[in-house]
Amino acid sequence: MRLEGPSEAAGCAIFGKCEFANPGGSVKDRAALGIIRDAEARGELQLGGTVVEGTAGNTGIGIALVANARGYKTVIVMPDNQSREKMDTLRALGAELVLVSPTKFADPNHFVHTSRRIAEETEGAIWANQFDNTANRKAHLETTAPEIFDQMDGKIDGFTCAAGTGGTIAGVGMGLKGLDENVTIALTDPHGAALFSYYENGELQAEGNSVAEGIGQGRITANLEGAPIDTQFRISDQEGMEWVARLLREEGLCLGLSSGINIAGAVALGRKLGPQARVATILCDTGFRYLSTLYNPEWLREKDLPVFDWLG
Ligand code: PMP
Repeated sequence: MRLEGPSEAAGCAIFGKCEFANPGGSVKDRAALGIIRDAEARGELQLGGTVVEGTAGNTGIGIALVANARGYKTVIVMPDNQSREKMDTLRALGAELVLVSPTKFADPNHFVHTSRRIAEETEGAIWANQFDNTANRKAHLETTAPEIFDQMDGKIDGFTCAAGTGGTIAGVGMGLKGLDENVTIALTDPHGAALFSYYENGELQAEGNSVAEGIGQGRITANLEGAPIDTQFRISDQEGMEWVARLLREEGLCLGLSSGINIAGAVALGRKLGPQARVATILCDTGFRYLSTLYNPEWLREKDLPVFDWLG
């Protein structure tokens, strides 16, 4: 859909792909379905088997839904600093939830390594491995990219989004370039992530901090390898939150912070491409998933983020 406030700010046309409208409420439903279908096609997953994954939550929700529909069990490993709503949702869907402390990737107890170990130790289980399983980006290459292209009537000049696994930016980037090689693909990186500097000067260097869930990567995952990134922006949580507030008040869209950061990136890309440009980004998930955080005045004050004036 066309986003009016962002279009006005950029001086060109900005569009948001409504991934919050997927059955699990986020863009990650696509990776979940793609990874499970791929494991089935390779004969790795049998009826009654288990899908194990380490996730900030959204991939887990997608996996739990797909697994329920196809006769598998779900085990989700998640850092305990993610929103309570995502944990409650996973439990409600019947997933077994394993909470771990948020640690650096190098720590053997990191949620990704913990999920791999559980998969290895569980009979009939697969490890979804969304970061390095390229069935993730393939799902975006085959579905998200052509949908965006068609929904924009084949007239698109730029696309941008932030990376968690990198599946969306790489898959959509590759897919759009395949449909029109002139589309500019931009990475929008939150603070605290290392990809902006990597695409800028080849060095993985993080700067600052972000409370955005689901985005912010410190390494080149297999999904990011060969991603056709033409340019990059670094966006603060403050900028992202301003867009979250504006989209809610002006356009009736209740979104998570990664969507706000994506919109800030799309505005930056639109300004760079000029007044004729048509730029698309991803509205990744619903804000209803963050009522206890992004929409909670105490939490916002604790994180030094501006409190929406209607929250008091
Ligand atoms: N936004 C949110 C809310 C997410 O949960 C994720 C996935 N972790 C992303 C954006 C990034 O998507 P990807 O993993 O495809 O880079």
